[in-house]
Amino acid sequence: MSDHSKIATWNPVRGCTKISPGCKHCYAETFAERFRGVLGHPYERGFDLRLVPEKLNEPLLWSRPKTVFVNSMSDVFHSDVPDEYIEAVAKVMQAIQASRLFRREVERDVLGKEQPVTGFRHELIGKFLAARHVRHIIGQGAGSATVDYITLSGDELWLDMFYFVIDETVSSALLNRFLKEILAAGGLARERIAAYAIGTKGAQVATDVRVAYEKAKLGEDLALTPAA
Ligand code: SF4
Repeated sequence: MSDHSKIATWNPVRGCTKISPGCKHCYAETFAERFRGVLGHPYERGFDLRLVPEKLNEPLLWSRPKTVFVNSMSDVFHSDVPDEYIEAVAKVMQAIQASRLFRREVERDVLGKEQPVTGFRHELIGKFLAARHVRHIIGQGAGSATVDYITLSGDELWLDMFYFVIDETVSSALLNRFLKEILAAGGLARERIAAYAIGTKGAQVATDVRVAYEKAKLGEDLALTPAA
C-alpha cells in the first residue's frame, strides 16, 4: 500500500472461515484463493486463516494520517485468533492515537482548497471493532479471566474504547441499540459505560435504556454523572 494513499488497508490477520449465508460471495476469499500456491505472495496460502505478526506495527511507520480498513481480508475476531493477538492489534491503534499521525492537519485538495485531514477515522474503525470484541467477552459473564481483567482491574484503555464509541455516535438509534446490548450483556463494566453515555449524551439516551441502567447498576451512582 502506497504511503501517499489516504485510504489504506491493514491486515495483521489474513484469511477467514465462511460462517453464514452472508459469506457466500466473500470478495476476500475470491481474491485470496486466486493466489493460492503462488510462492512469495501474501496469499500463497489462499484464504486459510493465519496471523501476520510482522504486519502488526505497520501503521506506526506511515508518515501521514489515513483512513484504514482494518482487516479488509480477514476477520480479526475469528474464533481462532487468540485474545492476546486481538489486544495487540488494539494496542497498535491506541499507540497511533497518541502519535503524531493522530493530529489534525490541513492539506490542499486538487483545486487548491484547504481541507482538514485527520488520522482519527482509522482509530474510529479500530475502536468500534475493539468495542465489539469487548462487548462479546463481557457477554461471557463473570468468571471470564478477560472480563476480570477489564472490569476488576479497571483497565481504562478498554473502557475508553467504549467511551470513544459513545462520543462518536451521532445517531440516537445506534447509540441506544449499543447501550441496550451492553446492558443486556452483563458484566461489571456495563454500569460505568451506561453512566458515561447518560452523562455525555443525556438527551439522546432513551428512557427505557435509563430504566435498564437503573436496574442494572450495582456500584455506580447515577447522581455522580452530569445532568442530561
Ligand atoms: S471475511 Fe467476512 S464475508 Fe468473508 S468469510 Fe470472513 S466473515 Fe465471511
